[in-house]
Amino acid sequence: MLLAIKYTAALPRAIMRIVDIREVTINLKGGVSNAIVNFHKHTVSLVALISDQFSEGKPVVGFGFNSIGRFAQGEILRERILPRLAEVAPEKLVNRSGSGFNAEALAQIAMQNEKPGGHGDRAGAVAALELAAWDLNAKLLGEPAYKTLRRHFDVAESGVSIPVYAAGGYYYPKDSTKRLNDELLRYQELGYHSFKIKVGGYELREDIPRIEAAVAIAGCGDKIAVDANGRFDLQEALTMAAAIEPYKLRWFEEPGDPLDFDLNRILIESYSGSVATGENLFSLMDSKNLMRFGGMRLGKDIFQMDPGLGYGITEYHRILKALEEFGYQRKQCYPHGGHLINLHLALGLGLGGCEAYPGVFQPIGGYSAQCSLVDGKIAPSDAPGFGLEQKQELYPLMCELVN
Ligand code: MG
Repeated sequence: MLLAIKYTAALPRAIMRIVDIREVTINLKGGVSNAIVNFHKHTVSLVALISDQFSEGKPVVGFGFNSIGRFAQGEILRERILPRLAEVAPEKLVNRSGSGFNAEALAQIAMQNEKPGGHGDRAGAVAALELAAWDLNAKLLGEPAYKTLRRHFDVAESGVSIPVYAAGGYYYPKDSTKRLNDELLRYQELGYHSFKIKVGGYELREDIPRIEAAVAIAGCGDKIAVDANGRFDLQEALTMAAAIEPYKLRWFEEPGDPLDFDLNRILIESYSGSVATGENLFSLMDSKNLMRFGGMRLGKDIFQMDPGLGYGITEYHRILKALEEFGYQRKQCYPHGGHLINLHLALGLGLGGCEAYPGVFQPIGGYSAQCSLVDGKIAPSDAPGFGLEQKQELYPLMCELVN
């Protein structure tokens, strides 16, 4: 292993430093599609924060990435963000006790000279760095990141596992419905009980048999969520909602454009099932607008904001506090992502659950073999940080980045 399991060195005499920050673009595997995009050409920025702390003769390194379903942000990192961090005095990046790095300060410095609003790709660039700081801090403490998050944000202990569903159910270029069946059966064999499938990529009359096939495999509608990825206009969303209402599905995800809060509200007024959205809102303010204008129901609808797409965990926690001020529960949060970082996030912050991508989006998607899945709940391993070193396909890329 490149990175140590436990940090055993004595406390540093001087201020600890980040001595290098590296980034690389990695490709995602899998020629699958939803109603809007094909993921074949999607990329991710993998970032390494290399500290001057050593454990078992090797530098302690924090890794992060900017989630799934978009693109790497190497240019923004190289041209705008990394030069700002290179200029900052080391003491600005350490936490008050000097025992780790200050993820909030790091994100703040990364955003110097950036105007408010217009949260686009830079939100993912900052996120990759901010998440790497949490990985680094947890490794310095020799503990899984969810424990570091619980302590930092003062979240009550709530066990070591969290509900998980398998996200997938994509459209395939050939034999799509048969492959959907095979895919869900494969997830079931792995131990998943609940699933999410895509809708809106075909005509309604072709989507309904896909939903019925998925419900038949799961055994009931409340184990199947459907995701339109923002594909529908209002009329189409209402038509789909009316068509799926009898199946009593777990939720109807991103029916329309993620920023069309009016559409979301009108749809919710006419649909008795739960609606899920938020993965394409990248900031506290965008999320607040969903809370203000989107019609989301207390205790019922699902929020899916993803720290990997929206400035990292510090911003995500601000969103959680806002949700609670509006009267929502954090158990209504199921962050988009389906990877180890968001598993630690969901467990550490006491969210409702998380998704998994067991079959697609490698090397980022899904969990490591050391995670345990029992009765529809998943537990991370005891590996320090996010445990990304245990992702077999990802580990060689991490080594390449830091060696
Ligand atoms: Mg989605």
